Amino acid sequence: MPSNVAQSEVVPSENRKTQRAIDLRSDTVTQPTQEMRRAMAEAEVADDVYGEDPTMNHLQERAARIFQKEAAIFVPTGTMGNQVAIRVHTQHGQEIICEERAHFINLESATVAAFSGCQPRTIYGADGVITWEQIKKKIAPPAYYRAQTGLISLENTGSLAGGTIFPQEIADEICDGAHEAGLPVHLDGARIFNAATAMGKTVAEIARKFDSVMFCLSKGLCAPVGSMLVGSRAFIDKARRVRKAMGGGMRQSGVLAAAGLIAIEKMPARLQEDHDNARLLAEGLAEIKGIKIDARKVRTNILVFSIVGTGMDTAEFSRSLAEKNVLAAGIDQEQMRFVTHNDVGREDCLKTLEAVRGICSR
Ligand SMILES: *Cc1c(COP(=O)(O)O)cnc(C)c1O
Repeated sequence: MPSNVAQSEVVPSENRKTQRAIDLRSDTVTQPTQEMRRAMAEAEVADDVYGEDPTMNHLQERAARIFQKEAAIFVPTGTMGNQVAIRVHTQHGQEIICEERAHFINLESATVAAFSGCQPRTIYGADGVITWEQIKKKIAPPAYYRAQTGLISLENTGSLAGGTIFPQEIADEICDGAHEAGLPVHLDGARIFNAATAMGKTVAEIARKFDSVMFCLSKGLCAPVGSMLVGSRAFIDKARRVRKAMGGGMRQSGVLAAAGLIAIEKMPARLQEDHDNARLLAEGLAEIKGIKIDARKVRTNILVFSIVGTGMDTAEFSRSLAEKNVLAAGIDQEQMRFVTHNDVGREDCLKTLEAVRGICSR
């Protein structure tokens, strides 16, 4: 099941065998493009554990350049990227301050506890956005019996919050305050290219004050595998040790980097299309009786909407949709999530709205 679908079952559709399903479960389902497949087949490779894979080195240099950070490292998954960053930034027995829906504490198998020996100190923020005002009250006082704060982690876009944008002024203020208090700040930027598109900023502008950023090459950017961590040279050198310790040292990984290069160079330019489709879905859903969504809040490729008024729970709603060849899942019993991506076009969105109207009028 896609890593960022929380609760309800993922519904396989019988129809999928005969007809391509409209798959709105997540942007993790995207197919690599033909250009990626060709580049992967032709990639020049060598052993990356020796640091000799030319395609991988090229990807890491390009990522560092695009984010205007000193260095970058490829990791097989976003989870590994976040957890390597946390391991490097923290010591066992510390706390990490984050919003309560943060991906790294909800959908990454308690790795902060198991691997870094830390506990989360959560804050609720509307739309997943927390402020320096809130955070500074949660920084542990130096009492010897209090777990000390080791890290602050933010998310942009906020995945479980519904693809929300983290406003730059608020993020910058948090980074400034944290640095003054001697604390590093990590950004889970799994979908930072979606954020950049919606904010009209470059990823470098968003990343500027963060000590480390994780972003995904898979998902909306369509690479089959991979995420990256960017940060200072010293941070990335430590991350390479931790990645190896977690079993993430790879050999001829240039075949993956070849797809990743296309993901960062070419795919961000088409993300606006996904955002337009998400808005189209949101506006259509807002008109359907029993469904509640504020379409104006949908700014990226994720939309979360309440179906309480339909009398169905999300499992039943998902099953009914699957019968109409549309795949989606709930994030809890009352809220459904749709995610748009490269393999879902405008026509598919119109068909989806037709399907939702059908099941809601029964
Ligand atoms: C997908 C995602 C991750 C983890 O990525 P995986 O490749 O699934 O491990 C981390 N954070 C956010 C916000 C995500 O959406």
